[in-house]
This record gives sequence, C-alpha cells and structure tokens, in this order.
Amino acid sequence: AGAIRFENVRFAYDPEREILKGISFDVPAGSSVAIVGPSGAGKSTISRLLFRFYDTSSGQITIDGQNIAKVSQHSLRAAIGIVPQDTVLFNDSIAYNIAYGRPGATEAEVYRAAALAQIGNFIESLPDGYKTMVGERGLKLSGGEKQRVAIARTILKAPPILVLDEATSALDTHTEQEIQGALTLVSRERTTLTIAHRLSTIVDADEIIVLRAGEIAERGTHASLLAQR
Ligand code: ADP
Ligand code: ADP
Repeated sequence: AGAIRFENVRFAYDPEREILKGISFDVPAGSSVAIVGPSGAGKSTISRLLFRFYDTSSGQITIDGQNIAKVSQHSLRAAIGIVPQDTVLFNDSIAYNIAYGRPGATEAEVYRAAALAQIGNFIESLPDGYKTMVGERGLKLSGGEKQRVAIARTILKAPPILVLDEATSALDTHTEQEIQGALTLVSRERTTLTIAHRLSTIVDADEIIVLRAGEIAERGTHASLLAQR
C-alpha cells in the first residue's frame, strides 16, 4: 500500500511566481523514489504538498488512487512518516520522545524501536537543555543521535509511506553513512520518497528524479544518471 502519484502538479506560494511547473511522477507501492536538485528547485514543496500543508494550484496528488484533497488530515498523517533534516525533541526522556503521539505503544515496542535505531543504551536519558526544577542538565545528543530518535519514532509508527527530507544533510560524512544504514532498514518494503540535495547521498532508489527550477530535468536510475555526467 501507499502508492503515490503526482499528476501534472502545479503550485505557487505567490501567484506571481510558479514553483512547481507541472510535475508528474509515480512512486509505486513499496518502491523508492528520490528527488534531487539544487536548493530552491522545489523539492521540499513537493513534500509539503504531499502532507497537504498547501493545496496544488492544478493537477492532483493521489495515494492508492485517492485524491489527497479528499482524504482527512488525520488519515494522511497516519499514512505518512517523516524523518526531517532537523529533529526537534521534547523536553523529556528519549523514550517519551519516541512514544509521543502513540498512546497504544507498549514499553516493549518502544524499546525495540530504540534498539533497532541503535539508541537503546540511552533511552532513559534526557535531551540537551533539559532542566529539572533542581537545575540538573540532560545528556547532549549529537545530530546523528537526534536523527536516530526520529528513526525510532518512525519504526514505532510503521507508516506505509516514508518521507526522508534531507534526513542526513546536516550530518558529517561518517555519521551520514551510519544513519543511511538505519534508514535503509526502515524504508525496506515501504513506499519511500527521499529528498536530497546531492545525488551521491542516494543509495538505493528505484528511480531518481532531478528537479530544476520546478521542472523534471532528468530521470533514471543511479547508474544511468551517473553515466550521463
Ligand atoms: P528546495 O527544497 O528544492 O530547496 P523549496 O521547495 O524549499 O526548494 O523552495 C522552492 C522555492 O519556493 C524557493 O525559491 C523558495 O524560496 C520558495 N518558497 C519556499 N517556501 C516558501 C513560502 N512559504 N513562501 C514563498 N516562497 C517560498
Ligand atoms: P506524527 O507523530 O504526527 O504521527 P511524524 O512522527 O511522522 O508524525 O511527524 C513528526 C513531525 O514532523 C510532526 O509533528 C509533523 O507535523 C512534522 N512534519 C510533517 N511534515 C513535515 C515536513 N515536511 N518537514 C518537517 N516536519 C514535518
């Protein structure tokens, strides 16, 4: 489940300037598509439209054949998990952060998600900046550790669709590679839309779409796109 289709999608934040100029692509259920392109090309706008933060100016977006304009915000959010570039943590334990919004999750499920994301060892710790009334300070989490918290949240949520929006772009190369491994684990057999600045950070997408100035400039596999360069 979770097939995504963009059909001739146009969008403008401001009517004077069109940001997406008729974009069409498919992410078949269970497959993985990456959108790459320079900053300002409109990549994040695509993910914002998928979440219906905005409506398209024309064209439509469907999930499993259903126009998202007719789907409730609640079911849309239930269907899509996101690992954003910067994960903002609540002022509470890592376990709380992973379980937030999942009242049905058992402690065992939260710990399993943490273990898979390789943060099982500090699940009871508190994020940086946390202060209790006696002024105790929390553990300082690195960017990679914060991303692992986001990954654990997604493992627990287990949505049919996963959106990775520059999920590793704020990390150093070594950490990026580690986090890529964890993301590959989460995205397996899930419909995945990856948004990235650089082609080199895409490891295993079934299709790569190069977006430039709101238009699809090229599309192909990793190998076919590299061969053209
Ligand atoms: P990318 O993710 O490829 O860097 P974005 O989708 O974030 O690009 O942005 C595409 C264009 O839309 C940019 O020129 C950006 O300045 C503009 N833009 C983004 N958000 C807004 C907004 N809320 N209002 C007006 N313009 C915006
Ligand atoms: P939820 O916990 O609400 O079911 P997620 O864990 O998948 O959903 O989302 C975590 C948070 O990321 C949510 O608060 C959501 O509003 C926010 N979010 C959604 N879309 C984006 C986006 N495109 N970029 C950054 N954050 C987003």
